This record gives sequence, structure tokens and C-alpha cells, in this order.
Amino acid sequence: MSEAIDYRRQNATGAISITGVSKSFGRHKALDNVSLTLEPGSVTVILGPSGSGKSTLLRTINHLERVDEGFIRIDGEYIGYQLRGDKLYELKEKAILRQRINVGYVFQNFNLFPHMTVLNNLIEAPIAHRQLSKSAAIARAGELLDIVGLRHKAQAWPRHLSGGQQQRVAIARALMLNPRVMLFDEPTSALDPELVSEVLDVIKKLARSGTTLVIVTHEIGFAREVADSVVFMDEGKIVEQGSSSQVLNNARHERTRRFLARVL
Ligand code: ADP
Ligand code: MG
Repeated sequence: MSEAIDYRRQNATGAISITGVSKSFGRHKALDNVSLTLEPGSVTVILGPSGSGKSTLLRTINHLERVDEGFIRIDGEYIGYQLRGDKLYELKEKAILRQRINVGYVFQNFNLFPHMTVLNNLIEAPIAHRQLSKSAAIARAGELLDIVGLRHKAQAWPRHLSGGQQQRVAIARALMLNPRVMLFDEPTSALDPELVSEVLDVIKKLARSGTTLVIVTHEIGFAREVADSVVFMDEGKIVEQGSSSQVLNNARHERTRRFLARVL
């Protein structure tokens, strides 16, 4: 293992532990007894066919979706719940919002506020929720727009940006409060092919920053290059998890191999 990875892990937070999580919609089991441990600062790519539960899994990590069974912890803290005695009690909305500060979320369709400039997209929530003063928020936004290469677009409107630029703004926005964990749900699948790499390059930069990254994507080349571990899901279950080279080159399960043959 490279020194860079050792260094990163020693300093990183954002350990995710998912234990026995199940979630149904009506009679359909979207997640079926999913357990997964992700190291602090690690990069995990989640693969799987449409409908296999990838988005639902990401949403449960943030308590955007309540689980039916099991639990999720980040750095030991139960997400959405509080342990009292030997029972979990659901947290109040305010406490859940406080936990979400630690988790950034990037959606397939960018979800920028269309009526706000790029800068205001970044600073709105941190100021509204009194997590940063206006001047601190503007300073932080400037740093992040530099990182994603868009400082010159601070006063632009989202509709005047390309899809790749909008997604880079969305990533910067998700980083405003220094989350320990960043969740990406198919961050490049709404983009024209020539815009995919500029977004993947930004995510690659984050991969060296110590933030734990969980990325749902079909970009196998990216997974090969950047992911520490790859998880393959099908029908709400984790079929296999391993290092990127093990899963991508040497999958144990036939279902994984069949899926890879289709997307490669
Ligand atoms: P993926 O992201 O892998 O495509 P999803 O997690 O979005 O899969 O969905 C898993 C399954 O759960 C699908 O069958 C989907 O139709 C169903 N599902 C997801 N969200 C909802 C919801 N809010 N209501 C009803 N069914 C849902
Ligand atoms: Mg999905």
C-alpha cells in the first residue's frame, strides 16, 4: 500500500459502518440486509444495474431515507438515531440536520438553485443555518471555486453554465462545511460525454484530501484508477466487495462478471 494512502488514513475521519440495513417500498425490498464498512478517507465505487438499490443506499447514509432494519454509523455516531440504554430513538429534525453537515451529497442532475448566482448557491445554506458568517462563507466559496476551476464564474447564473460546470459548482457547494463524507449519485451520467472528465478530475482531487468518498458510477476506468474498493449490488444486496483490481479484473461472482461485460 502506498505511503499516500497510509498518511491519509491516519488523519482522516468519516468511517462509515452500515450494519444489516433493510428498506422496503411497499412490498419491494430495495435494500436487503446490507452490511458494509468503509475506511476513513477511502474511496468506494458502487456499481450495479438500474434498480439494484444504489441510490437508496446512499440516501440511507444521510437519513434522507429511514431504514426499516439495521443502522448506520459515521465515526461511531448513529445516523438519524440516538442510543439510549440499548434502544435507538429517532433524532429530532434539528439534530438530523446537524448530522447532515458531515455528509455532502451530489446528485445526478446538479440541483443548483436556478434563481441564485454560483456564489449564492454556495453560501446560502451555511449562512441561513448560521454555520458560517457571511464573510467566512464568501472566503470559503472562493477557495472551493478555485479548486473546481470556476472562480471566474462566481457571479454567473447556473443556466449560463455547461452541465460539467454546474456539476463542479454542485461539488463545491457540497464541500462548503468540510464534510467528512461525500456521496455522489451518478455525478456524470447526465453529462455530454466530452464533459465527463472535467467532473471526474475534480472528484479525483478530492480523493487525496482525506474525505471519505462513496461514488455511484458506471465509469469503470475511473473506478480502476481512483477507487480503493468497489462494491457490486444487485436486487438490494451486496453481491461482492473488494479492492478495485480484485472486483474489476477478477470478480468472484458470475453476476458481477456479466454486469462488467455489459458496461466495459
Ligand atoms: P438504483 O439507484 O440502483 O437504480 P434505487 O435505489 O433508486 O436503485 O431503487 C431501488 C428500488 O427501489 C427500485 O425498484 C425502485 O423503483 C425502488 N424505489 C426507490 N425509491 C423509491 C420510492 N421512493 N418509492 C417507491 N419505490 C422506490
Ligand atoms: Mg440510482
